[in-house]
Amino acid sequence: MLIAVKSVLKELESVFGDRLYTEPQILALYSREASSESGRLPLAVVYPLSTEEVVELVRIAIKNRLKIIPLASSTSLSGNTIIEEERTVVVSFEKMVKILEISDVDWYTRVQPGIRVDELNLELSRYGLHWPVDPASARAASVGGVIANGGGGVKGARYGPASHWVLALEAVIGTGDVIRVGCSTVKCREGYNLMQLFIGSEGTLGIVTEATLRLAPLPQSFVGVMARFQDIMPLVDAVIEVRRSRIWPTVAEFVDREVAKLVGLGDGYYLWLGCEVTPGGEENMLNALSNVLSSRGEVVAVASSLGEFNKLLEPRRRLYSAQLNAAFEEYGADAFLYIEDIAVPISKLGEAVKAIEALARKYRVKYAMGGHIGDGNLHPAAWARRSDEEEMSRVRQFYLEVGRLAIKLGGTISAEHGIGTHKKALLREAATAKGGDVVLKLMKELKRVFDPYVNTSVPHMWQRGRGTTAPGAGSTSSSLRLQTAELEKRRSGGWPPVCTAGRATSSAPRGYRLPR
Ligand SMILES: Cc1cc2nc3c(=O)[nH]c(=O)nc-3n(C[C@H](O)[C@H](O)[C@H](O)COP(=O)(O)OP(=O)(O)OC[C@H]3O[C@@H](n4cnc5c(N)ncnc54)[C@H](O)[C@@H]3O)c2cc1C
Repeated sequence: MLIAVKSVLKELESVFGDRLYTEPQILALYSREASSESGRLPLAVVYPLSTEEVVELVRIAIKNRLKIIPLASSTSLSGNTIIEEERTVVVSFEKMVKILEISDVDWYTRVQPGIRVDELNLELSRYGLHWPVDPASARAASVGGVIANGGGGVKGARYGPASHWVLALEAVIGTGDVIRVGCSTVKCREGYNLMQLFIGSEGTLGIVTEATLRLAPLPQSFVGVMARFQDIMPLVDAVIEVRRSRIWPTVAEFVDREVAKLVGLGDGYYLWLGCEVTPGGEENMLNALSNVLSSRGEVVAVASSLGEFNKLLEPRRRLYSAQLNAAFEEYGADAFLYIEDIAVPISKLGEAVKAIEALARKYRVKYAMGGHIGDGNLHPAAWARRSDEEEMSRVRQFYLEVGRLAIKLGGTISAEHGIGTHKKALLREAATAKGGDVVLKLMKELKRVFDPYVNTSVPHMWQRGRGTTAPGAGSTSSSLRLQTAELEKRRSGGWPPVCTAGRATSSAPRGYRLPR
């Protein structure tokens, strides 16, 4: 095994040169993600610069029976980037970050997968355009990660998730073939829509090396409000009434009382509503919003531009860090946070939030909730002491029951975070609820077609077990991770130590030996 590892690394080095990393300290950074999960250390991390290098990687993987896991910023929240198998090579897109083309007539851009959403949107804003998939993690999340997770974001109420905003993809599948699927036109009818299969596939069907993204013009004018409520039900009623009034907000986000406290807002539940308007229509829209809100809550701030609204929304963007802080304040490094990601039809939101409260009482869990309420997407996050198996089991049960609730209400177990290691069991339940296991069988067949050697990615969805719960810290920002890796390489000089892909069971990586 050790000899084979040495020769595999030599093969990888012949393709990636000094963009191959095997230092345990660096590998440890890739064994964690933003969720509380951590997994095994990979055998190596490589940073390709081109599609050709990814093809070479897949060929080496086929020959040596390696697993590959593609990733970029590891901001996933369901265990999507967690390594469960030995002989896994991480392919990180942190160096493939180019914008290849922007068409201000066709309203598309062609990009490499590692570019971060905020960086792309900053550049697009010079053309009066944007990619409207705007996760709250947009500062770190990569386009490739958002596509592979089928991500959504704070503009989801109007623009929907990534599946609405990708036109075409280039991907390397598990045979080593490069496929180009989709078109650069919005209308595209060329047989089966294989492109959509990749959206939300969590890297299990192939490695995306280029994406053509559909763009929208930046709004000409934008207004918004932040409102406070004494209870969750009037807030939900307000969201429903907005829909009944045929107001189509771009942003409809909320946080509960617990989160409001954690992010420094006053006591209460908070709702943000932001709307695109034609110039001249600002006052009408603000009046319409205030009519809906004032009988149910109180408008505490008004924004008359997108810039102003983004500032108002800042506390909402801190939802996840607030939930994480609450867990860490209570349990320190022993904290484990489970973040739910269900969506229900808007008309069922009231029922959903009441049932979530009841489940939290039943399982005696501490939780805080916020989310993209405008598209029915709720993120209750519950925390436990990792070393307390009884508490962990109650929180896990709460997490599962919330997923089941979504199924019962005609919603989904995951709106945007994906299945990862956390939701394998729920995926099965969701499929069964929709008429049986045939759908799962079809998915497994598809996996086999795209990835016959089961190399191109770790197929979390199809593995047994619940996934790891080994201790791990949160994710490291990808540029910081890359800088650390480069620094480490310079410091160590020469050929780095070879690893045997041991399991990371503490913050200090273990399981490393020098080759004989
Ligand atoms: C503070 C915070 C807020 C968040 N808010 C949101 C939100 O509002 N909406 C939302 O949708 N998510 C949100 N998330 C979750 C997460 O940011 C998103 O899922 C994001 O899309 C992941 O991007 P990434 O670059 O970190 O991908 P990674 O975590 O690195 O990878 C994600 C998945 O994509 C696969 N993958 C990555 N690159 C490729 C590639 N090139 N080819 C094939 N597969 C690939 C990986 O294998 C993995 O399965 C949030 C997370 C945090 C920490």
